[in-house]
Amino acid sequence: MLTRMSLTFEDASARVDAYISQFREGYFPPLLMLARLTEETGEIARVIAHASGKTPKPGEDPGDLEMELADLLFVTICMANERGLNLERGFERMMAKIEKRDATRWTRKEPGQPSEPSNTGVTP
Ligand SMILES: [Mg+2]
Repeated sequence: MLTRMSLTFEDASARVDAYISQFREGYFPPLLMLARLTEETGEIARVIAHASGKTPKPGEDPGDLEMELADLLFVTICMANERGLNLERGFERMMAKIEKRDATRWTRKEPGQPSEPSNTGVTP
């Protein structure tokens, strides 16, 4: 259940930091954090594989893509917090990069035209 209508990068960062700061262990060391990031990426792949026709192993949960993406976001925020990085600034820099670099890369839609499903999609 959504408790808020919007969440800023600063809010998310502060909430994760407040959670982690309760514990003496603090943030994972960088290589363990990288392992967790990779683990969550694999869990996303498993959910997509199941949704794309791969038969789950007996007793295996098909998974929840929304939760797995949120898991990845949590680890990403942890990594940024541990390094003192600003995800909002990073996001703005990344969007400015692709908005400039890919300005003519994709096929523009006519006003009101729906997106067409494709196997390639638009990804950086
Ligand atoms: Mg997960």
